[in-house]
Amino acid sequence: MNDKPVVLMPEDVDRLLGKDAQRSNILAAKMIADIVRTTLGPKGMDKMLVSSNGEVIVTNDGATILDEMDIEHPAAKMMVEIAKTQELEVGDGTTTAVMLAGKLLENAEKLLDSKIHPTIITKGYKIANEKVQEILKEISLRISFEDEEVLKQIAITAMTGKGAEGSKEKLSSLVVKALRQISKHTKKINLDDIKIMKFRGGSVENSKIIYGVVLDKEKVSDDMPASVFDPKIVLLDCALEIQNPEIDTRISITSPEQLQDYLSQEQKIIKQMVEKIIHTGAKAVFCQKGIDEYAQYLLSKAGIYACRRVSRSDMERLAKATGAKIVSNLDELGMEELGTAHRVLEVVQEDEKITFVDGCRDPKSVTILLYGGAEHVLDETERAVIDALGDVSAVLKSGLVVAGGGAVEIELAKRLRDFANSLNGRIQLAVLEFASALESIPEALAENAGLDPIDILTELKTRHNSGERNIGLNLLTDNIEDVLQSRIIEPYSVKSQAINSASEVAIMILRIDDVIASKPKQNSTE
Ligand code: ADP
Ligand code: MG
Repeated sequence: MNDKPVVLMPEDVDRLLGKDAQRSNILAAKMIADIVRTTLGPKGMDKMLVSSNGEVIVTNDGATILDEMDIEHPAAKMMVEIAKTQELEVGDGTTTAVMLAGKLLENAEKLLDSKIHPTIITKGYKIANEKVQEILKEISLRISFEDEEVLKQIAITAMTGKGAEGSKEKLSSLVVKALRQISKHTKKINLDDIKIMKFRGGSVENSKIIYGVVLDKEKVSDDMPASVFDPKIVLLDCALEIQNPEIDTRISITSPEQLQDYLSQEQKIIKQMVEKIIHTGAKAVFCQKGIDEYAQYLLSKAGIYACRRVSRSDMERLAKATGAKIVSNLDELGMEELGTAHRVLEVVQEDEKITFVDGCRDPKSVTILLYGGAEHVLDETERAVIDALGDVSAVLKSGLVVAGGGAVEIELAKRLRDFANSLNGRIQLAVLEFASALESIPEALAENAGLDPIDILTELKTRHNSGERNIGLNLLTDNIEDVLQSRIIEPYSVKSQAINSASEVAIMILRIDDVIASKPKQNSTE
């Protein structure tokens, strides 16, 4: 006989089992959802976040809020992850995703209380999500890419409530113009091809689109022209200087003549390099690496505008905007590799010299310049523009939209309830809870606007039951109406992704019945 206790884990491990694990996880997830709940929708409130070094951010953006908070609880962290994924995949709908996940878990808790096993709940949620995705596809509408007004409305819906409100006409038109330009010849939209630059001073109304790239770089020498028109453009990712030897090489020079010789040898090499550029007739050079002083002198003399140490991402944008190819070896530089723009010029902004590469013909990369008074406002404007870019590009990709203002959620809930009738027993209960979680979106929209959520929900449901499937809450007028007509529209893919990831995370959290947490290691020098 051996009655020694079995030791599985060290003593300093925290363990939560069964119900305790579930409750603690659900509570943490609900807390996260509660934090962002009040920011949902055009009338949502803002959060002020103060970092440990005193930096202040005022924002309404779910992803930003959660990103800035230092969250420790593991289940809460999973909620933060869905916000991040949502932001990354579709660029908007983060608050919706997080709130829905919280509500799904809150409703699951009710089922757990009535002794329904988590496996049944997760199965029900899975079935419900699949059905919802099916219905969503069915009730979404296809829009025409030519309809610039509709695209602008999608941008406006994405931006309402985000501080940028006063200038939404202006900003939405910039967003649509930028996206239409870069997606002219491709269905694969890469948002990196739209560079956003922010400048303090002036009003948001002065914001504009540049058909090309704006670089936070000045020309490398004062002797270069301040602007060149219709230049041929060279993009280099090799240095216009003699690379310092990697290993410490020592060159012994014994006489002044030898030194002179050595230096003129170097100059000769550089001169050969620069001549290859001059030979092409190029009038602007952008170099990812360094440009030596002698090279600068030669370029200036030839009337060439040049910038050095341009970032890789800007080099790629320049290539897409000007049509130039990035060259790594000057011997390969030919007419084929050159690009063009209407002008390259140096401009002073906020006491800093920057370079505009402007007026490119049919550029595949563009820049949006945002102007604004205070830094906080400018930052929030940028976040709003990013949301709008995400929404409009989602629509350009799929061509599908749904009705906003809670309309689509009410319709989904209604049809999901109908479907639930075909299911039996406990699974049915889980599907019904999924439906009621969807209704928490219009509920929060109403609540955040200071309206009575119960009245509104009741009216919305009644009208949807009588077949009016696009009835939602217009928070610009506080009316309950056909929101498609008032053009409150959202991309199908943002909604679909938000519901899908909310259901996935809720299911994942519900499946956990054991939390085993190692304590942080003590400092070993103690
Ligand atoms: P998210 O991070 O989920 O995108 P938002 O704060 O951007 O959260 O709010 C999005 C919600 O606001 C969507 O449900 C959308 O339909 C709704 N919404 C946007 N504009 C309006 C409007 N004018 N009236 C009513 N609801 C609106
Ligand atoms: Mg949004």
